Amino acid sequence: MRYEEFAQVYEKLSNVSGKIEKAEILASFLKELKARGKPEWIYLLRGGVVPEYDSREFGVSRQLALKALAKAYGIKQEKVIESFTKIGDIGLIAEELAGKRKQTGLTSTRLEAGKVFETLRKIFIITGKGSVDRKLALIAELLSHATEKEAKYLMRTLLADLRIGVAGGILVDALTKAFQDDEEGKRKIQEAYDLANDFALVFSALTRGNGSLEGIRMKPGVPVNPLLAVKADNIEDAFSICGKPAAFEYKYDGFRLMAHKFEGKIVLFTRRLEEVSKQFPDVVAAVKNYVAGESFILDCEAVGYDVKTGKPRPFEAVSQRIHRKHNIEKLVKDLPVVLHVFDIIYYNGKSLIDEPFKERRKLIEKIIREKEKVINVSVLKIIDNEKEAEKFYQRALDAGEEGVMIKSLEGRYQQGRKVGYMAKLKPEVKDLDLVIVGAEYGTGKRAGWLTSYYVACRSGDKFLEVGKVSSGLKEKKEEGTSYEEITHLLKKIVTSEEKHVVRVQPKIVVSVTYQNIQKSPEYSSKYALRFPRITHYRPDRNARDITSLHDIEQAAKR
Ligand code: ATP
Repeated sequence: MRYEEFAQVYEKLSNVSGKIEKAEILASFLKELKARGKPEWIYLLRGGVVPEYDSREFGVSRQLALKALAKAYGIKQEKVIESFTKIGDIGLIAEELAGKRKQTGLTSTRLEAGKVFETLRKIFIITGKGSVDRKLALIAELLSHATEKEAKYLMRTLLADLRIGVAGGILVDALTKAFQDDEEGKRKIQEAYDLANDFALVFSALTRGNGSLEGIRMKPGVPVNPLLAVKADNIEDAFSICGKPAAFEYKYDGFRLMAHKFEGKIVLFTRRLEEVSKQFPDVVAAVKNYVAGESFILDCEAVGYDVKTGKPRPFEAVSQRIHRKHNIEKLVKDLPVVLHVFDIIYYNGKSLIDEPFKERRKLIEKIIREKEKVINVSVLKIIDNEKEAEKFYQRALDAGEEGVMIKSLEGRYQQGRKVGYMAKLKPEVKDLDLVIVGAEYGTGKRAGWLTSYYVACRSGDKFLEVGKVSSGLKEKKEEGTSYEEITHLLKKIVTSEEKHVVRVQPKIVVSVTYQNIQKSPEYSSKYALRFPRITHYRPDRNARDITSLHDIEQAAKR
């Protein structure tokens, strides 16, 4: 098979925009590939030479690509750079240069797809000293045999910029159309791909023997696509997505990690299937020391915490750990994480993907030895009514978590995002800036402090209440704005006091998040925030700058 056939398919794909048309073009090409090619050549259709779970790249910079063009076509580098400044697209420059060479009659032997694949693989694998020069020679060698279109797509492949719009879903559709064209076929192909993350494996299984995908199994060490959540608008909605009763869990604000154990090794993958074991030696050790089992795949959230206070830190604070490759030990110390394990999909040689969630949960509770600030099983409660669910949601927010996850007790581990398995519920991201107009004293540990605040929006020069908020501030002043600090500020501006409630001048502005806004006769604005939480004290704002009643009305409509 000639590489030219790939170049033609790329060209056709780049000329249509619809998913259906693209899948049709690919389906007929895949039939050709079955007859005359090799399964792994399918990677070329998404611009790669290895399975999708392998996140390495060709390592060809723009500069190296321009150098290769100069070398291949025997022209000065400055000239190539000059056309790049004009055209801005290395693929098009390669096409033009290959065309010029053809006019001079210099085109040589044709390019076989196999040769291209093997050479691209070499370029992909080479690392270390001298690798740039070797890459350069290999690229120039390919170009010296390439037609115009071949040259264009070779360069685009190497620069990871194929521009043909073939996402994984389209290739699944194309495989379905070509080899098992019905709903059941599509489901099986998608499931096999979600397990393998390797189109060559799926393609090969579909086109050999009886086309059965049974042999594609989950294997620790090979990353799998995770179960994703559907957004719930409120608690009722969450129950309707996941059924009643459902499991409610804290939603931790960290990053997802899948921890695999096999042959005594622990390997970690992100949600995008990148391997990050080296970046997280602390998590590797936690899994090694506190989880029993010969082999397994755990689904977890790693969450940063403050070394001094022990409280969770937002994702942004620790996100740098994912990509930093140096000074790992210092990062482990400065930005420690705790692992919350919330699911398991493989255990001691057996896939648990079809087991109901409640059984998988029982297993994690059994095999994990919890250790504070190191590893624990996610906080969970099985709930069958709205009232209790609201309480649990509030508890999660009060604990400083992001919201709640809701899971169907009977649900299998359905990879991807489908209704019926897992939902997420968190407050609206957009904060409102509101002014405190009154407050109530707390009790128990918080006695003596004003700990619940009546907050108001602005309507002309009036302030209208939109609710009462009591979560979000800190107990200790080292942790951020505290109840004590706000109490001091409010006490200076009290205008009246009755029992445990004070009214204050509208001076202290706070940013507040919330789940939703409802109409309510209880407050003077006629609206009430549901599940409000203070995110920041805003000393930089005054009452004139706060959210208006009109904004509240708009937000309520949304
Ligand atoms: P999504 O993962 O749904 O595409 P996203 O990346 O924007 O969306 P969120 O909207 O924050 O993430 O919600 C889902 C994520 O929440 C999960 O992917 C997981 O990383 C995280 N998470 C935190 N706690 C849990 C938990 N107890 N169970 C499942 N997932 C959890």
